[in-house]
Amino acid sequence: MQSKNDEKRRDFVKLGAGALFFGSLIGAGVYLAPRLNARERLLRPPGALDEKEFLSTCIKCGQCVQVCPYHTLSLLDITYGNSIGTPYVDARARGCYLCDLLPCVLACPSGSLNHDITKAEQVEMGVAMLKNPNKCLALLGQNVKQEDIASILTHSNKNEREQKVLDDLQEYVGKPCTICADLCPYPQKDKAIAMVSDNKGNFYPEVRNQCVGCGVCEELCPVSGESAIVIIPRVKYEEIYS
Ligand code: SF4
Ligand code: SF4
Ligand code: SF4
Repeated sequence: MQSKNDEKRRDFVKLGAGALFFGSLIGAGVYLAPRLNARERLLRPPGALDEKEFLSTCIKCGQCVQVCPYHTLSLLDITYGNSIGTPYVDARARGCYLCDLLPCVLACPSGSLNHDITKAEQVEMGVAMLKNPNKCLALLGQNVKQEDIASILTHSNKNEREQKVLDDLQEYVGKPCTICADLCPYPQKDKAIAMVSDNKGNFYPEVRNQCVGCGVCEELCPVSGESAIVIIPRVKYEEIYS
């Protein structure tokens, strides 16, 4: 069975063609070609050790899942083979909000989530990429409509923090989309992502080198199906943007 991440890897290959198409719209060089490798990549919680070490140390206790106030984490099912029972992030369903003190890391009894990682700036989950520029409302010059965010408003709202995310999203209806850049939870968000314009006046989100791959931009991107901006798990900025 093909995993979501297999699909992502395959789709990154297509990105080159998409970038060429949109190159005519916003100028060459805006979308930088990804470098691919064959590793399976899952988006893991903050502080996760390298995948091999993570798999050999995680005791599948689910403590990280239990303490997450955003209900971000789930345990993989049997279709993931050896990874069954280990925690992951489905960013389209719910990103990681980089909570103060990273409670998921603190709760991990095995050290699979590295206790030396204590703040957002140290997190390295992956890197965001504007994979589907042809869907980005900012690039298309379209305002956000209520129906654009309808499915995201069904995400978990069991507590005040979660409800605030949805309330913040609601504020964008009828306005130009700058959601990914504005709602990025990184402390100095303009070092992770910012809206910029090209020399033709087209706006788009530019991912910057402190992006930690938390997935919130992917979760809240108000387009149908796969988001315009997606997370490449387990890579560093330099591996994606050259
Ligand atoms: S940092 Fe917070 S939102 Fe992110 S996975 Fe850990 S507990 Fe959940
Ligand atoms: S959230 Fe960002 S990537 Fe998604 S449509 Fe809005 S500006 Fe584009
Ligand atoms: S740009 Fe996206 S993935 Fe990167 S830190 Fe901000 S919300 Fe998280």
